[in-house]
Amino acid sequence: MQSILLDIEGTTTPVDFVYRVLFPYARRHVKEFVSRFYGTEEVQVDIKQLRNDHASDQQQQQTPPAWRDDSIDSQVESVTIYVHWLMDRDRKSTGLKSLQGKIWEVGYRSGQLQGQVYEDVPPALVRWSEQKKDISIYSSGSVLAQRLLFQYTKAGDLTRFLQGYFDTTTGPKTEPESYGRIAKALKQPPSEILFISDVIAELDAANSAGLQTTLCVRSGRPWPQAHSYPVIRSFDEIFPA
Ligand SMILES: [Mg+2]
Repeated sequence: MQSILLDIEGTTTPVDFVYRVLFPYARRHVKEFVSRFYGTEEVQVDIKQLRNDHASDQQQQQTPPAWRDDSIDSQVESVTIYVHWLMDRDRKSTGLKSLQGKIWEVGYRSGQLQGQVYEDVPPALVRWSEQKKDISIYSSGSVLAQRLLFQYTKAGDLTRFLQGYFDTTTGPKTEPESYGRIAKALKQPPSEILFISDVIAELDAANSAGLQTTLCVRSGRPWPQAHSYPVIRSFDEIFPA
C-alpha cells in the first residue's frame, strides 16, 4: 500500500465541527467580510456568481429573498440575506462555498477558528509519513477549506504531511469514476490506495474503482447497516508502528 486517502467529516474530524463551528462562523461574519473586502477582485467574482445563482433560483420558482443592486450597501445587504437563505437550505452552490472559504480563511488566520481533528490523527500522519505513505484528502468541502482545517489545528500545521487535496470538482464521492480520477492524479494503481471513510456509499464507489477500503466508526456515531468492510475506531489501528 503506497497511498492513504482520507475523508474528513466523521473520519479525521467530528461531524459537528462543520455544523456547529464553521457554518455558524460564516453566517455571523458574511456581512462584515463582504463590506470589508467589497472592492477586491476575488469578492467581486463571488458576488457575480451569487447574483447568477440568485437569478437561476428565481427562474426555477425558488423564491429567494429580493436582491437589490442600487447601492453598495444594498448589494452587501442582498448578498448577506441571500447567503443566509442558502445556508438555511444547506445548499452547496459554487459562489456560496467560495465565499465561505474566504471568510473561514480570515477566521483561521486571526486565531478565531481552529481546525479540529481527532487525537489519533496527528500521530498517524507522522507515522504514515515515516512509513513513506502518500497521504491525501477527499472531502466535499472545498480544497481551500480542507487546507485551512489542517493548517490551523491545535497540534499545529499538519499540511506538511498531506500530498493531495480533492473535492467535488473531481466528482461526487459516491461515484466510482471519481476514485479512478484520484488514482490517476496520484499516479498510483487503484489497488495501492487505501480509502478511509465513515460512509458506506463512498466505500462502495471506491471499492468498485478497485481501491482498498476501510470503514471508520468514530465514538458516538451510529453503527452503520450491514456491510463487509474492515472497521476501525481510530487511526491507531492503521499501519501501527
Ligand atoms: Mg464523512
